[in-house]
Amino acid sequence: MPFCPNDRYEYLPGITHCPDCGAELVDELPDMPAPDVRWVKMKDLPGMVYAQMVAEVLEQRGVPHYIQSLFGSGGLGVVTGANFAGSSARIWVPEDYLDQAQEIQDEMMQDI
Ligand SMILES: [Zn+2]
Repeated sequence: MPFCPNDRYEYLPGITHCPDCGAELVDELPDMPAPDVRWVKMKDLPGMVYAQMVAEVLEQRGVPHYIQSLFGSGGLGVVTGANFAGSSARIWVPEDYLDQAQEIQDEMMQDI
């Protein structure tokens, strides 16, 4: 699965360059920038579009984050029920930011 080494987003297979910053995507991310940070996941989102909307607000609030897209295979997580492959995403944030980030996400998802 290709990742952008700069903003650590994960992209669909076949994409070679980051649409955001133009960097060449890599197969695996190097170690997280701050190895002592414990990353935790927030509630799953119904799609990348939502994840990117939430990520934009997190960015504005200065919350570190990265998006994981759930494609159903590749060991990234079990996708069940209505969430067929490719339909969902989740955001990881450092543990210290989880409450704040989850609150932001919940607020945003209420309006949808
Ligand atoms: Zn990028």
